[in-house]
Amino acid sequence: PLALLNDPSLLKTDALINGQWVPGSSRFDVHDPATGLKLADVANLGPADAEAAIAAANAAWPAWRAKTGKERHAILLKWFHLLMAHQEDLGRIMTAEQGKPFAEAKGEVAYGASFVEWFAEEAKRVNGETLPQFDNNRRLMVMKQPIGVCAAITPWNFPLAMITRKVAPALAAGCTVVIKPAELTPLTALAAAELAVRAGIPAGVLNLLSADGDNSIAVGKVFCASDIVRHISFTGSTEVGRILMAQSAPTVKKMSLELGGNAPFIVFDDADLDSAVEGAMASKYRNAGQTCVCANRLYVQDGVYDAFVEKFAAKVKALKVGNGFTDGVNQGPLIEPAAVQKVQRHLADALAKGGRVVAGGTPLEGQFVEPTVVADATADMLCAREETFGPFAPVFRFKTEQEAIDAANNTEFGLASYFYSRDVGRIFRVSEALEYGMVGINAGVIATEHVPFGGVKQSGLGREGSHHGMDDYVELKYLCLGDI
Ligand code: ADP
Repeated sequence: PLALLNDPSLLKTDALINGQWVPGSSRFDVHDPATGLKLADVANLGPADAEAAIAAANAAWPAWRAKTGKERHAILLKWFHLLMAHQEDLGRIMTAEQGKPFAEAKGEVAYGASFVEWFAEEAKRVNGETLPQFDNNRRLMVMKQPIGVCAAITPWNFPLAMITRKVAPALAAGCTVVIKPAELTPLTALAAAELAVRAGIPAGVLNLLSADGDNSIAVGKVFCASDIVRHISFTGSTEVGRILMAQSAPTVKKMSLELGGNAPFIVFDDADLDSAVEGAMASKYRNAGQTCVCANRLYVQDGVYDAFVEKFAAKVKALKVGNGFTDGVNQGPLIEPAAVQKVQRHLADALAKGGRVVAGGTPLEGQFVEPTVVADATADMLCAREETFGPFAPVFRFKTEQEAIDAANNTEFGLASYFYSRDVGRIFRVSEALEYGMVGINAGVIATEHVPFGGVKQSGLGREGSHHGMDDYVELKYLCLGDI
């Protein structure tokens, strides 16, 4: 698929340190999850390269910080336009290495680019404050300054957007960055870095270290231990988030963490059922269920349970599984064999505990999984506690509003949640009661660049996107001016 790029020079396989493309002393393979075929071998960088990238970012920081917000705005905007001008090629690279359908991949390019556009605009609005004085001989001010060298570690499920959502606010604020993209999807990241170079982002301001699984762990340790790195932003599993937090304790690092979810999707008796089915489809089966905001547990009230299950199962059966480049396909392969096994484990466990398959459930070849719905799900099933991260939807039955709220909140996670209701009182009661960072009400897809994305409880720290998304990349400095 990569032979068809309009601009073949976007296919970068070396890493970027201080404006130089670095081949690394070893290489690792990147595969197409749809075919299992090798796509490229990529520079495999290790701890010494990480130290070099951090030093480059530190050296580049003073000049980047000294630019005005408007100057950084202009460069970032150029990057945004280049990302959009190469939407097709970036989408092609993404589908090839990640598997998501081509239309969805192009959608992610637009979504990923939108963070660059948004934070380019915000670069001009890093406003300080003046505060009322506590005696008339003084004046009090607060200024915002870039935090310094930032490290970003990103996952494979959104190979572009998870990078831009971290890097764009960091650069806009006047920070420099070192990025370690997921080992399964480095090609999209490297293409985006090439466009950053073309946009005129100076050498050392944006560095990108591709690394295999083992080196990712080693590079992560270097980031955490470094006194120069002031901030780490990570999106991925809660398990790795905990490791990074523990490793960062000795250097008291500031952190932004977007970790796992276990999203409830609740359908009340008074919901518009067709709209609820449509929302559930979008929330559950986007990216073949591989997003941290995908509905993981569907709770449907007794009175509409059977009708919902019937309509939902019919829609799920109509989904088309296959290679993301094939027309009409809306379910690509899962990212790796372990992801397929997790879905199979959740399905087998649900069936052993009384679940009833109403759509899918038949094993497929390779890394493809048939979109599956299991009715009569119960709280003792694995899928009630763990994030499946695949195209598997368990549907639980409930009777009262309180029962649904209690079940929804019965998890250590708190990222996205969804519910469908037309009752305004219920909408406020349930919105307030859900222990989640985000609530979709009569909406199954809620993320966009100008809203605060993030979780509570063990789903993470901080918010990405929106004007709040800049907060993690600036420090407040209080000035107290006396002898007026
Ligand atoms: P996922 O469940 O999305 O695969 P992971 O948390 O395993 O999430 O991986 C997300 C990112 O974290 C990837 O870039 C991966 O290389 C990186 N990673 C995994 N383990 C570690 C670790 N121990 N230290 C630093 N980075 C890690």
